[in-house]
Amino acid sequence: MFLKQLNLINFRNYGKLDLQFDERPTIFVGNNAAGKSNLLEAVYFLSTTKSGRVDEETELIKQGENAALVTGLIQETKLEINMQMIDEKLHKRVKVNGVPRRVVDYIGNLPVVLFSPSDINMVTGSPSLRRWHLDLSLAQVDSHYKKSLTLYEQVLVSRNRVLKRIREGQGKVDELDYWTNELIKYAKVVSDARIAFLESMNNFESPLGKFIFEYKQSLLNKERLAEYNGREVAAAVTLIGPHRDDFVLNLNNRNLAYFGSRGEQRTATLAFKLATLEYMALSLGKRPILLLDDVFSELDANHRAHVVEVVSRQQTIIATVELENLPKSFLNSSRILRVEEGVVRL
Ligand code: ATP
Ligand code: MG
Repeated sequence: MFLKQLNLINFRNYGKLDLQFDERPTIFVGNNAAGKSNLLEAVYFLSTTKSGRVDEETELIKQGENAALVTGLIQETKLEINMQMIDEKLHKRVKVNGVPRRVVDYIGNLPVVLFSPSDINMVTGSPSLRRWHLDLSLAQVDSHYKKSLTLYEQVLVSRNRVLKRIREGQGKVDELDYWTNELIKYAKVVSDARIAFLESMNNFESPLGKFIFEYKQSLLNKERLAEYNGREVAAAVTLIGPHRDDFVLNLNNRNLAYFGSRGEQRTATLAFKLATLEYMALSLGKRPILLLDDVFSELDANHRAHVVEVVSRQQTIIATVELENLPKSFLNSSRILRVEEGVVRL
């Protein structure tokens, strides 16, 4: 993948920005709050239509404005996301070469992998955060997965509604059958893809360490559902299935959520992201763009050297507060752009 050009209008702290990229790694350097992460986020947003942060999506539009535009050029394809506030609600419209598309058909045009400092939360945070990382990677390479997951979530809502009606004495247990069968069908597609993804990730050897991403599947089938049925009706929610899946990040058989040092947790997150990059590259037959936010600051010299080596394999865009941590030879072969309060200087 190669992103040639990025254009922003009213995105975060940028009023108007037109950027060209070349074959070299791009390094955005600047003080805190200059707008470096916002630039990586803009590329991530163009790729996934998602912010990549937990804030309200309306915050993507520059303060005081009510519309924003992000466009990018890859090879001969123009990607475009238009955001507009209408009645205090954010409306997003996506286009490929000027033709409107549904988001589900749009994703996949610009595969990216983003590493950002807050990703360390995936080690210690909630299972939903880990599923979010997993789903975003899989959705970019596997449209069948993406569609099945969406359908799974829709069926889940319907099935929970029926459970609630049964609890209230308004529905019969056999009304569940249709939704149960549908749920099992889509659950299988989702779990199979997650199994394959984590297996492939674990086969990938990384100089960062022997990390194992251990799938904790909440298996969904008829037998297990029968065991849970009474409790499900009482709770009026579906208690098992991919929406309750999790995975654990292990190093030398230790669960890093409990036993990891901060450095280990950070390295595990980076290892997860770099393994994701290889998985996506293998599935797509082309390498995604790599976005690295403040990756070097807490890494030791060996790990830093490994990251520099990975950077050379695909288009990579880096954000950093200072250049001191980076090897001279790497700086000499990179394009360094200074970011100051919403302005990028060559
Ligand atoms: P750091 O080195 O601390 O990571 P950074 O260069 O990555 O800094 P960004 O996270 O890109 O900085 O944020 C830059 C600034 O953008 C912040 O001051 C933030 O308040 C501002 N900002 C965020 N959203 C908006 C918005 N919608 N409108 C205007 N400014 C915004
Ligand atoms: Mg930042």
